Amino acid sequence: MMLRINKERCTLCEACLSTCPFAALERVGDEIVVLDTCRLCGMCVRNCPVEAMFIEKQGEDLTEASLKETRNVIVIAEYDNKQLHPVTLELVGKGRAMADQISGELACVLMGCDCDKEATSLLEYGVDVVYLYDHKAFGHFTIEPYTNAVEDAIRDFEPAIALFAATPLGRSLAPRVAARFRTGLTADCTTLEVRENGELVQIRPAFGGDVMAQIITPKHRPQMATMRHKISEPARPRHNPGSKVVRRELTDELLQSGITVVNVQKRPPESSISDAEIIVACGRGVGNRETLGLVEELARLIGGQVGVTRPLVETGFANYRQQIGLSGRAVRPKLLITVGVSGAVQFTAGITGAETIVAIDSNPEAPIFQVCHYGLVGDLNEILPILIDSLKG
Ligand SMILES: Cc1cc2nc3c(=O)[nH]c(=O)nc-3n(C[C@H](O)[C@H](O)[C@H](O)COP(=O)(O)OP(=O)(O)OC[C@H]3O[C@@H](n4cnc5c(N)ncnc54)[C@H](O)[C@@H]3O)c2cc1C
Ligand code: SF4
Ligand code: SF4
Repeated sequence: MMLRINKERCTLCEACLSTCPFAALERVGDEIVVLDTCRLCGMCVRNCPVEAMFIEKQGEDLTEASLKETRNVIVIAEYDNKQLHPVTLELVGKGRAMADQISGELACVLMGCDCDKEATSLLEYGVDVVYLYDHKAFGHFTIEPYTNAVEDAIRDFEPAIALFAATPLGRSLAPRVAARFRTGLTADCTTLEVRENGELVQIRPAFGGDVMAQIITPKHRPQMATMRHKISEPARPRHNPGSKVVRRELTDELLQSGITVVNVQKRPPESSISDAEIIVACGRGVGNRETLGLVEELARLIGGQVGVTRPLVETGFANYRQQIGLSGRAVRPKLLITVGVSGAVQFTAGITGAETIVAIDSNPEAPIFQVCHYGLVGDLNEILPILIDSLKG
């Protein structure tokens, strides 16, 4: 919805300026302009003596019938002009499963420069249509052409669901696309489920983690969410006859950008806890640097990396890059050993993909024992030396 002023009718009496409780109207020359602070309360509309103001509805609510019709799923690939980010195949895997469940088709938007090969490769993973935007303007991420391209694909494909990666690129792009369609967006979902009627249930911790919120978008389409890397299984190769790459027309309007990329400096690649196959994650129960040393020794002996809970980062015991959880990294190791970690929902949000979880904690009621596969109840100061000795022995 948007406040509009009919300039033909407006007599510039300025009555609305003093009516607005949010100082959201201003006279600029011969017109009244609406500022960003407008809350659409409608007071000015009611008080305008010549009925020059009105609130325009955009993106009308969907009817029952049109809600049922939109059943396609679209995912936005992430490509750095060398390779597809691994989260792309996770989005494709999730999108394919959803599309199958609601009998829809799956499309993938790919933006880049000289990326025919990557577009074709996506067809091998169950994508029905790849919307390809191949131009040097997509050689680096610039927000306007990227937003225009995704908008173009969504208008053409009319999906019920649009999934983005919860990466810096996806987190920047998704809100702009959502604003264009005046639809809802849930960021950093830890679980995504789709109901038979095509409704997307977007699950993520809310209110400081006190609840796992189930968020739905009942009246607008597409339903949009960002999904974190390592939260979902990557797509597997799948024979998909009839799938195709659609090379979209690139108009000047679509490519226009107010940003010129002058130079790009890549950060040197750093090893990430997200890629580790074995992790020993320690929490506040570890208590001091000496015990942290035992955790590091255990990790070294089993060829793993050390991960931590947020309190250890906050107290300066560890680096943020080691933090696992909602505001840290999501991980999918084959083996995760937690030591003195209670298992708060913000931590477990980052370990849903771990294959085997072994928990060590002195409190038998700790929530971590509800998510682990093997639990050791006891003092970590006793258990760690025994484990280390047996591995050395
Ligand atoms: C918006 C938001 C985002 C957040 N994001 C994250 C996040 O990304 N990652 C994260 O980890 N947290 C995050 N948190 C914090 C989270 O809520 C918890 O506070 C945190 O995970 C708890 O860390 P912990 O398990 O190390 O500490 P605690 O909850 O204090 O648990 C310590 C555990 O150690 C055990 N223990 C103590 N002594 C011993 C011993 N001698 N032997 C064996 N066990 C022992 C205790 O029984 C206890 O279970 C976030 C919070 C908010 C509000
Ligand atoms: S109250 Fe109505 S007529 Fe007067 S300035 Fe505002 S919009 Fe124009
Ligand atoms: S709709 Fe309400 S907030 Fe917006 S300009 Fe009018 S009075 Fe101000």
